Amino acid sequence: MAKKLAAVGWQGITLKVPEDWSLVGVDGDAKKGYFRVDGPVASALEVRWSSALGKKPDLLVKGREYLSGLEKTHRKKRLKFSSKVKLDDVDSNSANFVWRSDTLGQGRLIYCSQCDRVIIAQIVSARDDDMSGIAPVMLGSIVDHREDGWTNWALFGLEFAVPPGYVIKKQTLASGYLLLTFQRGKSALIIERWGLAATLLSTDTIEQWYKKDAGPDIKGYHYDLTEHAVAGHEGIELQGRRSGIKQAAKAVASSFTLHPFPGLISGYAWYCEPSNRLFGVRATHVDGDDVAERVRDTIKCHKD
Ligand SMILES: [Zn+2]
Ligand SMILES: [Zn+2]
Repeated sequence: MAKKLAAVGWQGITLKVPEDWSLVGVDGDAKKGYFRVDGPVASALEVRWSSALGKKPDLLVKGREYLSGLEKTHRKKRLKFSSKVKLDDVDSNSANFVWRSDTLGQGRLIYCSQCDRVIIAQIVSARDDDMSGIAPVMLGSIVDHREDGWTNWALFGLEFAVPPGYVIKKQTLASGYLLLTFQRGKSALIIERWGLAATLLSTDTIEQWYKKDAGPDIKGYHYDLTEHAVAGHEGIELQGRRSGIKQAAKAVASSFTLHPFPGLISGYAWYCEPSNRLFGVRATHVDGDDVAERVRDTIKCHKD
């Protein structure tokens, strides 16, 4: 069973799952949260994380706590439940568990001192669904932080990273259209991906399409679009500044504060023919900050 794998992840915690599994739910923030990824039939992956509060927990105790919670839920439904947890032979910051009831579970607990989080990932499958080959691969592929301080995000085959300080504010998650809005102070960072790109561009140039689609969302900034190839694809670059005298005064007044007012906007959009998708990254920012370009460069729009 050599299934193709794709990364999926939220708030910096990513792992590899079969390509046909999709992110179906997210909750919480960087400190405490959850995401769920469903397989095409009955299997699912659940990942939870919470703050370690500055010290390494006893992973066996944590694991038993978690399993006893699951046991209670199952026994209430009058289901049998058995489980096992043990420390990882190799990684002392990790423990592995399995449980058996009407469904099967296998999972992993990880403590990371650098992100100060405890992560519990588990794969739940039907009893006749053989996950023994793929589950260890999935659980073994967990990455919980990057060395450069940026945060990884991965969903529906879209992988990117955002610089430190950006917090997710809003998301639209559909395989045909993805929108993720981040914020740092008063600055916004928007990442979008559209499917069926050839159809979207059947009557418009990429510039015309972008003006119609994204234009209405760009409020308070005057901008120009120019042709600009991205990743070898046809694309556009957006450059603009805050409109209005009042806004300009506001920008100057706040330029020495902790969260300077973003007087500028920059962005990119491009048409990736091999994947039949359009990608867009734009950011409001202060002078000299090339965040849109740097985030753009973390996106791999198609496979070679
Ligand atoms: Zn970490
Ligand atoms: Zn591409």
